[in-house]
Amino acid sequence: MLARDHSITPAQQGHEAVIQSILESAYRALEQAEVAISELTAIGIGAPGLSNPETGILSTSPNLPGWQDVPLRDIIEKRLGKRAFLINDANAAALGEFYFGAARGAHNFIYITLSTGIGGGIVIDGKIYTGAIGAAGEVGHMTIDDDGPVCNCGNRGCWETLASGTALAREARHQIKEGGRTSILEYAEGDIEKVTAQVIHSAAEQGDSLAKELIARTGYYVGVGLANLINIFNPELIVIGGGLSNIGDMLLEPAFKMAGDRAYKEAFRAVRFASAELGRNSGVLGAAAFALQEMRKSLRE
Ligand SMILES: [Zn+2]
Repeated sequence: MLARDHSITPAQQGHEAVIQSILESAYRALEQAEVAISELTAIGIGAPGLSNPETGILSTSPNLPGWQDVPLRDIIEKRLGKRAFLINDANAAALGEFYFGAARGAHNFIYITLSTGIGGGIVIDGKIYTGAIGAAGEVGHMTIDDDGPVCNCGNRGCWETLASGTALAREARHQIKEGGRTSILEYAEGDIEKVTAQVIHSAAEQGDSLAKELIARTGYYVGVGLANLINIFNPELIVIGGGLSNIGDMLLEPAFKMAGDRAYKEAFRAVRFASAELGRNSGVLGAAAFALQEMRKSLRE
């Protein structure tokens, strides 16, 4: 990686503002790297939401209000004058880990990112599986509890409403309001709105029993989803990334135990778990690798 630039997505200002911000970031990164646009082979775009690699259209995204069927790939291609390729951001991250990180050499693996939500990418026989319209790998929206909390997607009880950092913080706030005995608030400057997964982790590390219990419960739900994925895909490897996974054993031990209890024994014995290695770079590296891979494919045709 020669350079990287980062900017806050002006999501509330509509798609034209977001595209402008993407272009400005791209120009800054090029300048930092001292590379001219003419020297680029292609551009890879990892975008949240329903990003169709075939059509290059981002049709909808819960994080980008108002986006409806935006031909993001073609817009970037036209403005920068280079071939561009679009892929969902979590699928891009899976490819990043596949080419450069924890999943090197694996042919059948699943990447999940435990964060404010839960994203995922599925690699089958060495290829990212994007499905009929690019919507595959939305593991965070498999139903775990048919009567569970309402999700951003409109459904109830999706995996991410029970096993994400947002879910953990929501549960902690609820317990605090109910008068649960805990020191969690002390780690959040006494402000219940500042209770985050990280705050709960700090309290748990200092021995707070409610915090530990909440993390173990989140781990339990992580494990239920893992068991489903293991039974459906029989992967050789599951790579786990995302900020919530930094909690480590306190979260993952109950998750692996639950997955072992619920999945087919043989399939569970065949799966290996690994931590993602590329952190914030997995998506950009994966999107770039996807662009190269697609370029090669089109040159052969
Ligand atoms: Zn959902």
